[in-house]
Amino acid sequence: MKNIFGRFNNIFYKVFGAFSALTVFSALLLGIVFVRLYTTATQRSRQESLCHVSDQIADRLADTIMYGDFEALMQFLEIYNSFESAEIWLVSEKQDELGVDGELLGVDMQLATDQEEYLEVIEKAKEGKQEASVFYSEIHKATALVVGTPVRGTDSDIVGVLVSIETLEDLDDTIRNTSRIIFVSSIMALLVSGLIAFIFARRITEPVRQMRLMTRDMIEGNYKLKTGIKRHDEIGEMAESIDMLSDKLLENEEERKNMEQMRLDFFANVSHELRTPITVVRAYAESLVDGVVTTKEEQEDYYGRILRECSNMERLVGDLLTLSKMQNPNFRIEKELVSLTQILEDAVGGVGAIAADKGISISPSGQFDEPCMVMGDYGRLRQMFMVVFDNALKFSPEGSTIHVDVKCAGGVEITIRDEGVGIAPEELPNIFEKFYKSRLLENEKGSGLGLAIAKYICEKHNGTVRVESELGKGTAFTFVFGILDEKQA
Ligand code: ADP
Repeated sequence: MKNIFGRFNNIFYKVFGAFSALTVFSALLLGIVFVRLYTTATQRSRQESLCHVSDQIADRLADTIMYGDFEALMQFLEIYNSFESAEIWLVSEKQDELGVDGELLGVDMQLATDQEEYLEVIEKAKEGKQEASVFYSEIHKATALVVGTPVRGTDSDIVGVLVSIETLEDLDDTIRNTSRIIFVSSIMALLVSGLIAFIFARRITEPVRQMRLMTRDMIEGNYKLKTGIKRHDEIGEMAESIDMLSDKLLENEEERKNMEQMRLDFFANVSHELRTPITVVRAYAESLVDGVVTTKEEQEDYYGRILRECSNMERLVGDLLTLSKMQNPNFRIEKELVSLTQILEDAVGGVGAIAADKGISISPSGQFDEPCMVMGDYGRLRQMFMVVFDNALKFSPEGSTIHVDVKCAGGVEITIRDEGVGIAPEELPNIFEKFYKSRLLENEKGSGLGLAIAKYICEKHNGTVRVESELGKGTAFTFVFGILDEKQA
């Protein structure tokens, strides 16, 4: 559990880190931009109005100087001084010339500070230029907007400087408040991004955890589980792939088990098929060695049986060898241009004696007289037909007929039909299996490999084989090589 939690935290912290960095960064950026824009805009408008007011006071002072218009000046100053954050100083060496005294004006007539920035402002104003500056005023213990305005006497020469000061404490407050808001909103953003990161990380880690558990199971060989994740994103696709992978592995595993079982069955069958004739041979040989069999006829009979069993074994081993060759995917059949009908004829000749013995006639039909050329291995194809003829003869009653029909048009289709016992429908799918044989008495000596070999040979010639059968009526095997021309076929 701790492990899972640790892993979970890992992604969680990554997502959380990214979200937090982003939100805090944007909050800071927005805050800084806002504060800057706000302060510059406010300062500019305050500066403009302070400059304007200072100009007016300076004009009034000039009026006072020229016309002694006290009333107007006093009214104006009253209004001005009612603003708490504002203050004016008059700096002049020629107070008498101004015709006002400090008390009346309610302003400091002398410069109350030797702070560098104030002196600079005054110097500039003395040169006849109105000067505005923002700096930390030591007297007011606050940032202040300071404007120096020249005051002109009767003959327009500069008689003094009007210093107007407006502290910007409220601006400082705004900045402080904004910073506080930024701080608080950053904390809140952190909390929100934590929550989002948590949900987001869970949505990723939960399926990942599930997939991890499942792949662990798969490593241990359990392919039956499914992730159970249905999502339309990359994680969903990955889960689907894992599910497909486990299906595939399960399929392979089952196939492997089947193959293994088939291999075991094959060995069991081979051992069984070989053991029976060996036991028989051994029994006969022992009887002969022990001298149990005394008469010459009996001895000859025994030798004859041993010989028959040996040829049976030889045939079986031969079949096994053929089969193992055919099963090898790299095994290539040596092909040349051969006549299928000629091979058929040869095979018929080969079983002629047995057919004659049983009074079975073999009746050709269709294009039996045409060559019907294909690319193939003469010996193998003959072996294939022999298997079918052998079976047909084995399972047909005396005096019946085996029909051989040939169609030859583009491709070749050959049907070998007997009038024998037939095959039960439930047995039909199995007859091409290795070692499959019926329990019929006729089949005592069969190994069940014949049709398996015939099918392999047919397939190695790119052909197909099919069987139709009805119990008691007969069986028909049809081989097709190449594609038949529909019209002629
Ligand atoms: P075997 O070599 O023992 O004959 P095959 O592979 O040739 O084995 O045949 C497998 C089984 O198919 C036979 O045991 C038999 O049951 C059935 N079979 C094949 N051909 C015929 C046929 N012409 N009529 C009836 N059954 C047949």
